[in-house]
Amino acid sequence: MNVTPTPIAGDWLEHPGTQSLMQALEAAGHTVLFVGGCVRNALLGVPVTDVDLSTDATPETVSHLAEAAGFKPVPTGIDHGTVTVVADGKPHEVTTFRRDVETDGRRAVVAYSTDIAEDAQRRDFTMNALYADRHGRVIDPLHGLPDLHARCVRFVGDPETRIREDYLRILRFFRFHAAYGDPMQGLEPEGLAACAALADGLHGISRERITAELRKLLAAHDPAPSVAAMFHAGILTRILPGADPRALAPLVHLDAAEPSRWLRRLAILGGATDSLRLSRAEVRDLDHLRTALGSSDTPAALGWRLGADLAADAILARAATFGTHPPWDWQPQVQRGATARFPVTAGDLMPAMQGAALGARLKQLENRWLASDLALTREELLKGA
Ligand code: ATP
Ligand code: MG
Repeated sequence: MNVTPTPIAGDWLEHPGTQSLMQALEAAGHTVLFVGGCVRNALLGVPVTDVDLSTDATPETVSHLAEAAGFKPVPTGIDHGTVTVVADGKPHEVTTFRRDVETDGRRAVVAYSTDIAEDAQRRDFTMNALYADRHGRVIDPLHGLPDLHARCVRFVGDPETRIREDYLRILRFFRFHAAYGDPMQGLEPEGLAACAALADGLHGISRERITAELRKLLAAHDPAPSVAAMFHAGILTRILPGADPRALAPLVHLDAAEPSRWLRRLAILGGATDSLRLSRAEVRDLDHLRTALGSSDTPAALGWRLGADLAADAILARAATFGTHPPWDWQPQVQRGATARFPVTAGDLMPAMQGAALGARLKQLENRWLASDLALTREELLKGA
């Protein structure tokens, strides 16, 4: 087993709850290791967001030992061997070592194992198959470290075989490349070819899983190269029929400070979202963004119609689509619109107007007001009314 000389460190690793939980399992004679994202991110020097642990203890034993140590085990994913243990306020996903036994192409079916090498083999990419003990000593059963250092996202084993076990791995390949790959190097060619060849398999994947991956992909600092590669491999249009990735790179250039606003990146790709599972609020916002993309509303008018955040999304997306720059003063203008009050009220038009006619007239006046960049006063508006 490969152990690297320099241990990893970090507050997440030294957390007292994490250390006591791991010690409790070790004291009972079990192996327990950090695995996946936390080890990968610590080695890359990027923030660690969640802690996954891997152990040879069964989920029942994990629950029992965690409870005996005074922690709260929650069976969050018992059918795939995961217990979430909250220790000193911090959740840990503790998963029993597993090996793949069969597959339906949507989820690998797994059995427990006591062998770390078997556990590593069923993971998706070599950079995600890294482990560390509670002192931070890194264990690399599959020689994933050279790939990690080269920032190369490489499938564990044969890419086609691994994709056939779980087609979601196609999207994960592009997502991890966007997050951790070397943008100058492009995607690992064998993996890319396998993803392109097997893209049809994505049809069997649930909308929830596809959406979760797409959301993470588009929230990466710069997803544009990955998304362009997905397009050329015939994958993007399988999840977003009709999508066009060309405006994404200019948008990323404009919005690099806030990649978390993934919806504007989705809006700019276009395409039908039937194979996604979006929240009602996301569907509404996406609709607004797409309408705003085709409108000539000023930044202040957009601020008034959509609120400051969504207006910012729309303005940046519009500039990226048309290859222009947003107006230099767009931010104060959006604020002006977002905090403005439409100066006419229903009372100004009543009792002369009522019901539907009143509504229609108010709408008409509102549009005139927006077209004047919110400049027309109550008197000016009513004069024409
Ligand atoms: P992040 O949480 O930053 O997105 P992560 O590596 O923790 O990254 P998760 O999706 O939380 O990613 O998965 C945790 C680990 O479980 C991965 O590192 C990988 O080893 C394994 N894994 C998750 N999903 C799959 C899958 N579909 N196929 C194979 N292995 C997987
Ligand atoms: Mg994770």
